Amino acid sequence: MKIEKILGYDVHRKKVKNINLRINQNMEVYISAPLNLHSSYIENFIRSKEEWIKKVLNKVEDVKLQQKEYEYTTGEIHKLIGREYVLKVRIGNINRISLNKEINEILLVTDSENVENRKKIMDKWYFECAKKLFPDVVDKWLKILGESIEHLSIKPMKTRWGSCNYNKKYINLNTELIKRTPFEIEYVILHELAHLKYPNHGKGFYNYIENYMPNYKKAEKMLNAKHYY
Ligand SMILES: [Zn+2]
Repeated sequence: MKIEKILGYDVHRKKVKNINLRINQNMEVYISAPLNLHSSYIENFIRSKEEWIKKVLNKVEDVKLQQKEYEYTTGEIHKLIGREYVLKVRIGNINRISLNKEINEILLVTDSENVENRKKIMDKWYFECAKKLFPDVVDKWLKILGESIEHLSIKPMKTRWGSCNYNKKYINLNTELIKRTPFEIEYVILHELAHLKYPNHGKGFYNYIENYMPNYKKAEKMLNAKHYY
């Protein structure tokens, strides 16, 4: 393998069939290309993807800025399964969170004044909520589709709502998805499970999804991240 600089990007020349461009967990653009492919093809390919690269990186920046705005103090709006709740913070000896749907309130009891600590407590709670909900929705769709999986993992993911390893039958879902509406959650899960039959985003893939969710495009718009998974 050798690395070649094209348009300022590192292109990894390898024994691969196609040009592959992705953004990894560290927000770095990773490009691999066949050993003998002419550089001008790669250059054109990169140019055709530059808009998308910008979009993804900007989006990640936006999300980061949004996240930074939270101070985890009383009065802030936080989301769960598409619903907005007002955060109420109370100082106590233990860390706990309770949800009151009647008054649309998330109560955070904590002994910490520190934003990072509070964020950790909230993130852990969101993770627990995701662990409660996602497996049921996955099971529901597995039954509908007549599919099975080997493993479901729920974890924070920087650039995707979910992913699917169709060989191993592993599904990954982004913890952040728990803040989205049920419709968006259902769509991402259907999308990832559809990859068990159709690994790529071809016409067959979207036809298959449309059979089960005719208004799936609306979900994609809401997620505003068509290329995220
Ligand atoms: Zn996909």
